Amino acid sequence: MLAMLQWYEAAGVDMAVGEEPVDRFAQSAIVPAVPRTAPAPAAMRDAPPHPAIAASGADADPETARALAAKAQTLDSLRETLENFDGCGLKLRATNLVFADGNPEAEIMLVGEAPGRDEDLQGKPFVGRSGQLLDRMLKSIGLDRTKVYIANTVPWRPPGNRTPAPSEVAVCLPFLHRQIELVAPKVLVTLGGASASTLFETTVGITRIRVQWRDLTINGHTMRAIATLHPAYLLRQPAAKRLAWQDLLAVRKALNET
Ligand code: URA
Repeated sequence: MLAMLQWYEAAGVDMAVGEEPVDRFAQSAIVPAVPRTAPAPAAMRDAPPHPAIAASGADADPETARALAAKAQTLDSLRETLENFDGCGLKLRATNLVFADGNPEAEIMLVGEAPGRDEDLQGKPFVGRSGQLLDRMLKSIGLDRTKVYIANTVPWRPPGNRTPAPSEVAVCLPFLHRQIELVAPKVLVTLGGASASTLFETTVGITRIRVQWRDLTINGHTMRAIATLHPAYLLRQPAAKRLAWQDLLAVRKALNET
């Protein structure tokens, strides 16, 4: 049993999707006996949808999210809006909202991809292994969490750490845009390809767009923005730390100039 659970966890299956166990073998034995044209038995019709099905259909129209986000006048009220928002399927299986960490007055804002397991449990971005590397990266250029503000492209953990689906990113994006507008950083750093492609609206890969500065305007606020590699990638490919170091030096220089 323990070995099976460890094997599941290694494969990314680290949470149960329902409160009650479901005997899929018993279900599949019943279903073929029902004629294709017959109405589903009442017990099946009345059953609540499987959480995975409910989740996949739960992403709201981004316009709804945009209208809600625009109403939030402060970061606290934006957080509260997200706490009450049920329009993103990721929320159904997340433990906590992972809104932000760091200093909302900071001149620099970092945006990662999505919370992982540790972040989901603690409700804070970048607290696991990649967060520890991120802290060391920040330290190398004289920064720490009192001097930066950190958020993610989506504020709930995707199950099994999968990549967030386009509809999940789309419905969360107006909240991230509003969060950036309210923080109004001078410098924005995207961490990893997913965050860069979402905020820079590009399909160009991270290795090609990193290191170049661009002016990014979000909801009327313009800031200098740069993409760098994700700390989780650097943990897997330590040789790429050399590239990240170039990006960090560019960030340090830009902050010195602001
Ligand atoms: N990776 C991310 O992109 N964000 C986190 O918060 C943690 C890991």
